[in-house]
Amino acid sequence: MLPQPITQIPEGELELPFFYNTVKSLDQVVDVDYYIPGCPPEPHQIWAVLQVVVAGLLQGAPLPPAGSVVGAGSVAVCEECTLEKHEKVITRFYRPHEIVPEAGVCLLEQGIVCMGPATISGCSALCPQVGIGCRGCYGPLPDVQDQGAKMLSAIASVVGAGEASMEEEEIVRDIQAVMDTLVDPVGTFYRFSMAHSLLRRADVNGSNGHEPVDETETGVSVSGYEPVPRKEVLA
Ligand code: SF4
Ligand code: SF4
Repeated sequence: MLPQPITQIPEGELELPFFYNTVKSLDQVVDVDYYIPGCPPEPHQIWAVLQVVVAGLLQGAPLPPAGSVVGAGSVAVCEECTLEKHEKVITRFYRPHEIVPEAGVCLLEQGIVCMGPATISGCSALCPQVGIGCRGCYGPLPDVQDQGAKMLSAIASVVGAGEASMEEEEIVRDIQAVMDTLVDPVGTFYRFSMAHSLLRRADVNGSNGHEPVDETETGVSVSGYEPVPRKEVLA
């Protein structure tokens, strides 16, 4: 049964708001002055941002350019993570309840999805330090437009499947077997960034996101949409 936009009830008419078939990020609707990443942002980062604002107000110190990311580092979470890193060769992925991770060792190389390689630093790698893979809440690195694609690329470089002596079909089967153990890659890699992803635009209009959307088809005006680049990162 499809929801009806207008429903008559004895008291009058109930009207459902229009359902868009895409979700926009805030900066695709209004200008955003500054981004403070994190879900939630870490207290020491909030404090650092407040100090910048206070210095601007009281001493006339220059504020970062509008659109800057404030309260984050400038490298990947992996750089802050103190877990031991070795060469990664992943032959299968585990969901958190399927494995007890070896203490002190990189989670990703144990097959636990960790968005550390694709996520900007600033949280002191909180989650990996307690054995939970980073979910990517601080968002992408400054030069990365699509956080999920960046993570997919990181994963692709460490999947241990196939051998040089194998036929191409066998290698593809091997890779597929490893990837089949990765549950919900889209939901995992784009948990915080779907509205900004290139994938999202491709999903909407079959393009890479830089073509105007057919409003008659989507019912939503996003013509001229360009992913908004995040300008500067201020730690
Ligand atoms: S556990 Fe995660 S954040 Fe830490 S080094 Fe491994 S991939 Fe990077
Ligand atoms: S480790 Fe990842 S998910 Fe956890 S707080 Fe840091 S950025 Fe967010």
